[in-house]
Amino acid sequence: MEGRKPLVKAEELVLPSVAALAPYEPGKPVEEVERELGIKNVVKLASNENPVGPSPLAIKAIQNALHELNRYPDGDSYYLRQRLAQHHNVSPQRIFLGDGSCEILNLLAQLFLRPGLNAVISAHSFVIYSLAIAAAGAQAKVVPLRNFTLDLDAMADAIDESTRLVFLGNPNNPTGTIYKRDAWERFLARVPPRTVIVADEAYFEFVRDPDYPDSLRYHDGERLLVTLRTFSKIFGLAGLRIGYAVAREDIVGMLNHIRQPFNVSTLAQVAVLAAMDDHEHVRKTLEVNARGVAYLEREFRRLGLDFVPTQANFFLVDVGDGRAVFEKLLRLGVIVRPMNSYGLPRHVRISVGLEEENHRLIEALETVLKAS
Ligand SMILES: *Cc1c(COP(=O)(O)O)cnc(C)c1O
Repeated sequence: MEGRKPLVKAEELVLPSVAALAPYEPGKPVEEVERELGIKNVVKLASNENPVGPSPLAIKAIQNALHELNRYPDGDSYYLRQRLAQHHNVSPQRIFLGDGSCEILNLLAQLFLRPGLNAVISAHSFVIYSLAIAAAGAQAKVVPLRNFTLDLDAMADAIDESTRLVFLGNPNNPTGTIYKRDAWERFLARVPPRTVIVADEAYFEFVRDPDYPDSLRYHDGERLLVTLRTFSKIFGLAGLRIGYAVAREDIVGMLNHIRQPFNVSTLAQVAVLAAMDDHEHVRKTLEVNARGVAYLEREFRRLGLDFVPTQANFFLVDVGDGRAVFEKLLRLGVIVRPMNSYGLPRHVRISVGLEEENHRLIEALETVLKAS
């Protein structure tokens, strides 16, 4: 192995769009940051996770299922699809479960895109969209944000005869903003019949704006519309990797053609079945988030920081030099997300934490800003 020069490099054997990609930057494990800095109690506000923790009912369900781990999961997620179908009042044939909603984003790109076709996305939206498009060898048509919000009129303008997918984050990550009902309905009226609309509603439960359009209300049996939801955010189960799509039966059918037969683990299935009944956990999460949002807004204003008002559980904050502030906060034991890879070098994205975590963040932020 050592010393030999390869005749052919791996990147010569893959799609040029794949070779050109920068890999997703997940950030270091908290334990590693603590070890390197020689500090304890590092606060992680970098991945929009639920700071309250997982649902206690989900934990109990997982403990009860541990002795079955010698068996493969139910490849149909039978009970869970029944439960979700009942919850949304649709047939189970319209529910598709994934290894996180990110898997479903990838499968949709694999299904509907190929070289010569394109997908329309917004600038400064979830990085997984552009990764999935590039992995399928297709072109991303990127439309600028307007006032930190998806510009659905401009996105509709960008759709051409080769556009097979439009990815819409609502709320959008990393801006935390939503598009409203009137813009959404105008958009729907303009999307041509061969373009699949993906409404990624990972933060659905956090939204307070009454003009927020729930895309599930717009499935009419004809429209090529896919609604994505996840258990990673409000339900606090990001580590289990489970999310789902609601779509037409024929779209779910095609997704089933290409997915791995056991893409959703046993523990994920039982945990979600339990978490869906844990209304107390959801209520508490929303309360902690609402209080955190109000506190952080107040403190960002006091510190003279420009931020984007959020409908989710995170803030996009203009700190001048996002990378530098990220590094300095890290040394004070607070992990946020720099936004260079999102094309926003002035910003950091900060997830709303528990009360004491938010205090730690503001204290550290104040120290960093005063020193510069
Ligand atoms: C967190 C997030 C998801 C959820 O991804 P999972 O794979 O379900 O954990 C999806 N879309 C956006 C925009 C997100 O921020």
